Amino acid sequence: AGTGMEPALLFFSEEMNQRVKEHLRIESELREALANGELLLYYQPKVSLRTGRIVGAEALLRWRHPVRGLISPGVFIPVAEETGLIMELGNWVIEEACRQIRRWREAGLAMPPVAINLSARQFDRGLPQRMADALERHGVHPGQVMLEITESLLVRGADSVIAIMNELVAMGLALALDDFGTGYSSLAYLKKFPISTLKIDRAFVTGLPHEEDDCAIARAIVTMAQQMRQEIVAEGVETREQMAFLRELGCDQLQGYLFSQPIPAADFERMMGDGHRL
Ligand code: C2E
Ligand code: CA
Ligand code: CA
Ligand code: CA
Repeated sequence: AGTGMEPALLFFSEEMNQRVKEHLRIESELREALANGELLLYYQPKVSLRTGRIVGAEALLRWRHPVRGLISPGVFIPVAEETGLIMELGNWVIEEACRQIRRWREAGLAMPPVAINLSARQFDRGLPQRMADALERHGVHPGQVMLEITESLLVRGADSVIAIMNELVAMGLALALDDFGTGYSSLAYLKKFPISTLKIDRAFVTGLPHEEDDCAIARAIVTMAQQMRQEIVAEGVETREQMAFLRELGCDQLQGYLFSQPIPAADFERMMGDGHRL
């Protein structure tokens, strides 16, 4: 005589079991991917709204799986964060970005600064030294690198986080706050952190200029950033209408498919060489 709940429970645990298995599979394959050189960075340009020129690039991780093809980070970064593998993965990203900047310099190419995404778990006391080592190993000037961090780090908010940020900034590295607007940071709160750039999350850019709420949020973020003398980047810009609205607001840079998807380093070099303009 059951409660009628057993089938549901059974189903639930079976689903959990599948999820755990899937995570374990991704984790072990990801370790191999690191060892076998299956990871690579793509670059997405950031464009100045004032000049129309490319003024930066965001490095975005890709996994070229021998069987499954190109896998996007949305699939494997969360697993890496859960399992702790994100440290190794993140270190690889830092290393590879610096290596790429060095290759560009050695080839005599004038390339813009590269932004590296950091997971909250990478943000520990050892980070400034790890950054310094990577920069030194490749002779990279810190002005060529920017770090993108997310709001979850600020919410954690401890003084130690601020101390690490200050150390990075003192080294000459600029900090950008990614996905802004999706978390809980208020103006007063943000002031505590040495952040030079805010990136408006794609979630709000998508609705421009038709969704009133999104327009209000974008306007508030830009106004606030201007008061704090921060650069403001809009991400996920796909239409000319969105661009026009963001220009009107006084946004500094934009990033999105309107201009370019993330592309391999060689394609990005070509784009820079062509003097590509918006
Ligand atoms: P993110 O940092 O917010 O990166 C922006 C994402 O938006 C990228 O997805 C990019 O391809 C996508 N995107 C850019 N413009 C447009 C657009 O106009 N329309 C649409 N629909 N999408 C656009 P991607 O490359 O799949 O990366 C997803 C997320 O994975 C990133 O979000 C970031 O959180 C994480 N990630 C990527 N690379 C790294 C990395 O090296 N380290 C860490 N910790 N996280 C990374
Ligand atoms: Ca980012
Ligand atoms: Ca983002
Ligand atoms: Ca985002």
